[in-house]
Formats: sequence, structure tokens, C-alpha cells
Amino acid sequence: MHKQKLLRVQNRALVLNSIRQHGSISRVDVSRHTGLSVGAVTALTRELVDSGLIYEKQEGDSRGGRPPILLALQPEGAYVVGAKLTEDHITFALTNLDADVIGRLTLENPGIEPEAVAQRVADGIHRLVAESRIQRSRLLGVGIGMAGIVDAETGVCHTSPILGWSNVPFADMVEQRTILPVYLDNDVNTLTLVEKLYGAGVGSNHFLTITVGRGIGLGIVVNGQLYRGMGGAGEFGHTVIDPHGYTCDCGKRGCLETFVGDPWLLRRAAEHDRHFNTIDELFHAAQSGDSVVLDLVRQAGATLGYGIAMLVNVLNPQLLIFSGEGMRYGDLLLEPMRQGLYANAMSTLSAGLKMHVEPLGDDAWARGAASLVLQELFRTSARELDTVGV
Ligand SMILES: [Zn+2]
Repeated sequence: MHKQKLLRVQNRALVLNSIRQHGSISRVDVSRHTGLSVGAVTALTRELVDSGLIYEKQEGDSRGGRPPILLALQPEGAYVVGAKLTEDHITFALTNLDADVIGRLTLENPGIEPEAVAQRVADGIHRLVAESRIQRSRLLGVGIGMAGIVDAETGVCHTSPILGWSNVPFADMVEQRTILPVYLDNDVNTLTLVEKLYGAGVGSNHFLTITVGRGIGLGIVVNGQLYRGMGGAGEFGHTVIDPHGYTCDCGKRGCLETFVGDPWLLRRAAEHDRHFNTIDELFHAAQSGDSVVLDLVRQAGATLGYGIAMLVNVLNPQLLIFSGEGMRYGDLLLEPMRQGLYANAMSTLSAGLKMHVEPLGDDAWARGAASLVLQELFRTSARELDTVGV
């Protein structure tokens, strides 16, 4: 892209982000906040008003004379689709610029063959847009979240244990079928992103999102940025706690996941003569006070806390966000987790630590995936701003 045009697009994203962060703000304050001249801000905001992404609100604080005109984000100015892939189904959400869910859809996964899955994702997007009656030209792009190691830059899924994929250029495959910009990332990273942009992580520069469910996920925000390492950062569930423990799906022994993950809880329960077909059954047994199951859940919590203590010592976060299906155990899991954490982390590092438990709604994962696109809009990227023609 021509350098001058790139600069303009970057400045436009800067202005848009400043408006998003403040809710409503005057042009003069946008100028102060972004360091751009008032003249430049005026020109850029005119374009944004014309494109329908922001609007003018005439309810500024009046200190005599004319009240200043405030600018605010137009949530319905554009839309994005988020999709979360799992082994048996695909959950879609259509959101506005505030990440509010406008439409939702769940389709069965046609199997694990990448071409078939890509086609099902494209079909889902088409159906969702049609059912939600939005203009397709207002659709900025598609975000897709999935478990596994994903290169978010190239949209290639390097490894997906649950789908058995290796080096699948999945974002490209969906892009070809939808002619929309498509972003792919690890699902826990997408949850972390939505917390950072719209949830408990707003204003927090150092936080961790820890998900508990089938496996254990970790999203890391350092210095206000999602930390990816070489692409695979966050494989916290596969840190070895007991080298003599059970052999994990990853091939190592005694990973954290083998103490806390759903399939492992079921297996451990079976070894104590508690045979459940589903994790729901195990959960209900814990709720109704089955002491054997309660002990397993407590042990899972304590082991998780022990693992998190290491993260706290290494990364010194200010906030931990807990999410995932495992949160339904509530304090049955979280109280032993807290004890394990505080008993093992350095007290100076754990003393000021804040914790937030996010009740995981059905939309959370797909909404997280949608935020992959929203992030691009509010960051300094040119790609989909050009696509939507703003
Ligand atoms: Zn493992």
C-alpha cells in the first residue's frame, strides 16, 4: 500500500479507537488523545461519519454557549461474524461493533475433513447474514477460533489434536468461499481478546485468561498485547505436574490437564468405582455431595492452583480471568484452586492479584472469535477498512 494511504488508514483507526475507548468524545479531545491535529481529526471523522461507523451526538456539556458536538461509535455501522469450531459442531455469532450478539446459529460439523468444514463455515455465514437481514456490504469479516496451535498471521492451523489437522490453511479456505477477510486464532486467545476489548480485561495490561473444560487453556496479555511466543504460547494444560502420571494426549505424562480436564476426571472417577457417561453426570454427583467425586474435584482445583502459582511467579499478572465450562463447579473447584495458588505463589506477587470468574454463556466462544475482526478494525490495520470501503 502507498505509504501516505497507509498513514491515513492508521490515523483513521487511531481516531476510531479513541472514540470507542471514550464512549463519546469531542473532536478536540480526540485530537488531544491521539496527537493528531484538530484539522486532521475533522477530516478523518467526516469520513467515518459518512461511512456510518460513527455519528454526532449533540449532548455535550454546555458551559454557556453552544454545547460541543460529541462523536460516538455507531454500533450498527458494521458487523462481524465469529465462529467457533469444535469436534462435533460449529457455533456462529453475528455481532455489531460493540460485540453485542445480533444473530446466532449452530451447525453440526460435517466431520474433520478440512474442505468440508470450510464449506460448512461458509454456509453458516451465508445463512446467518441472510437470517439477520443485514446488508452483506456491512460485514467486515469473519473470525474463527479453534483449539490447537494456530499461526494467526497466516491463518494456518498447525496442529489441531481434536480435528487431527496439521498445517491446514483454513483461513484461506474460508476466504475463498466467502470473499471476506477471514482471521483464524486459537480459541483461548480469542476469549482473551474479547475480555481485553470488551470484558474484565479492559484497562488491564497484564492479565491471564485460564479456561477449564475438556482441557486447560491459557491466554496471556503482557504489556497490553496478546503474547503468542512463536505461535504456540499458552499450552499451560500440558505442563508436566507429575512425570510418573497418566500418559496425556500430547504424549507426555502427568500433564496438568490429566488432573483437571473433563475426560480425565471421568477416568479418575471410574477408577474409584464411580462410572459416569458424561461430565454432566459427574458434575451432578459433585453437586449432590458424593464425597469421592468431591475429592476429585478438590484435587483438580488444588493442582490447578499449584500450576497457576507458577504462572503468577513467572508473569506477575495483575488479574486472572477464569472461564470455560469447568466454572460451573464454582467454589467446589475454585476454593481449593485459590488455596493451592496462595500456598505456592510468592506472596508479594499474589497479594494484589485480582480474580474474575466469567460465567461462560453459549455465545462466549463465538463472540471471542468475532473480536478477532473487531481488533483489526480498532488496531492500525488497513485490510478490512478497505474491504468495507470506508
Ligand atoms: Zn499433555
